[in-house]
Amino acid sequence: MTRLLTQIFAPAETNFYNSNTHPHRRSRNLRLLFLAPLVFTIIVLVVVFIALRYQHANDDVQYTVLGLESSAQDFYDESVHHEIYALRGIIEVIRRRKDLSTALAEQDRIALLSNSERLFKSLRHHFNITHFYFMDTDRVNLLRVHTPMRFGDIIERTTMLRAEETGEVASGVELGALGTFTLRVVAPWYDGQQELIGYVELGMEIDHILNRLKEYQNVQLVTVINKKYLDREKWMAGMRDLGRKQDWDHFDDLVISTASDVVMPALLLEFLEREGSLIDFDIREMKYKNREYRIFALPIKDADGRNAAQMIMSADVTQMESDTRDAVYTVGLTALALGGALLVFFNWLIGGMAQRLELDEKELRKLATHDGLTNLYNQRAFYTMLGDCLLRSCRYQRPISLLLLDIDYFKAVNDNYGHQAGDAVLRDLSKRLTRRLRTTDRICRYGGEEITVILPETDTQTAEKIAEDLRHLIECDPFFIGGEQYINVTVSIGVATSSQHAKEVEQLVAGADTALYQAKDNGRNRVCSFQN
Ligand code: GH3
Ligand code: MG
Ligand code: MG
Repeated sequence: MTRLLTQIFAPAETNFYNSNTHPHRRSRNLRLLFLAPLVFTIIVLVVVFIALRYQHANDDVQYTVLGLESSAQDFYDESVHHEIYALRGIIEVIRRRKDLSTALAEQDRIALLSNSERLFKSLRHHFNITHFYFMDTDRVNLLRVHTPMRFGDIIERTTMLRAEETGEVASGVELGALGTFTLRVVAPWYDGQQELIGYVELGMEIDHILNRLKEYQNVQLVTVINKKYLDREKWMAGMRDLGRKQDWDHFDDLVISTASDVVMPALLLEFLEREGSLIDFDIREMKYKNREYRIFALPIKDADGRNAAQMIMSADVTQMESDTRDAVYTVGLTALALGGALLVFFNWLIGGMAQRLELDEKELRKLATHDGLTNLYNQRAFYTMLGDCLLRSCRYQRPISLLLLDIDYFKAVNDNYGHQAGDAVLRDLSKRLTRRLRTTDRICRYGGEEITVILPETDTQTAEKIAEDLRHLIECDPFFIGGEQYINVTVSIGVATSSQHAKEVEQLVAGADTALYQAKDNGRNRVCSFQN
């Protein structure tokens, strides 16, 4: 990172034609510096966004199932409450029947049966009432209107005992020996003198409540009974009588309610096989035949307040789950597309910025290293380049020559033709030099009308020849100075070449300077070499 920053923000190189930080690398580094954190941030944001959306969608499914669970519970409680309320109302009406009151007081079974038979048919038809009892004051059964042949036994059920104990109407769900649940309402029956003459009881199987629950909540349902509330022998005998498979030991602590095994859903059967035990009341996930389910259990409380059984329900959440996945995909893809677009945009933006920086830098570099009038390298650049060239020439033991060129009587040009004419001469002269010399030679404006030329890989002899060529090039062609005027210009050139004795910049420049003075002294318009 520090290296990256250094490379990007490094000041312009002093080595002008051998920069360590190539502009393309600089631009690539700039991209890296900005885009890498951006890519990282976008990836983190996209991942967090998708994770949150996924979590949110999962919570949605969970909340929906929780809602289903609590509404199923409400539905069941409300239904039981409603049925008890209805049974109490019907009992109230029954207790006002004079004929039945008399028959009960006289314990007249025949009269009780004949007077209640039609009523029972009607109650069964309209209100799902399956049980209709009359008991005497000692809880001895006088008549079961639904099975008149069974009578004379003492009723020991909780609802019955509570009605006897309190002298008021008692109600509740009671578990039968065969694992069916009956909602029972028992009411004491008083005559006109408020004397207890017996009890009347109405009951209904709760299956129709469970069936309605299944329908309204759109769930599959099975009722399982805690074995500890059942008598094994009675249950087995009952199953035998009903001609059903007696599989008491199939599950550890539960048996499936006889009422529900007819329509036992395979899904829930598989779930119970897997669990093998009564489940706690947590929502469980289950996959069955490529569909997703949530399984949950609600307790069935009996009249004693015990959780004697559970309604185990399954809700199909396949659609919700697939909607969730779709939503996550959509969100993920959108976030990725946006992130990608953002990256492309920033890449473009940074590309543009880098390009402008490159141009600006190029321009700055040019301004810092070149002379504005002649477009030649300036003195600062000259010294840097000469230093480099000398180093290289020393290392590889190759010669390097320096020309110091000065226009003869240039002051007179300015004085006679004006400074603009002098400038024109300087510009044209620079062009001529540039055209004549090799690209590896470096031409610099040393100052005023003095120009230096670095000639790498050039010995004194060759340098003298080149200097002579340049001198001739300037002498033989007059310079245009505007207004159809041409003037002749000559130059004097001092030549110095690196050697054992002149391997420092200052030595070489001083040598060329001495040679130049010599040329001036010798009459100008000539080339002189520095001899050491
Ligand atoms: P010598 O032969 O001894 O070199 O004589 P000279 O007149 O060329 O030398 P001198 O050093 O006396 O004068 C140099 C002149 O160059 C003085 C200055 O006006 C002129 N000069 C320097 N730089 C520029 C420039 O950028 N433009 C113009 N027009 N003239 C310049
Ligand atoms: Mg001069
Ligand atoms: Mg001069």
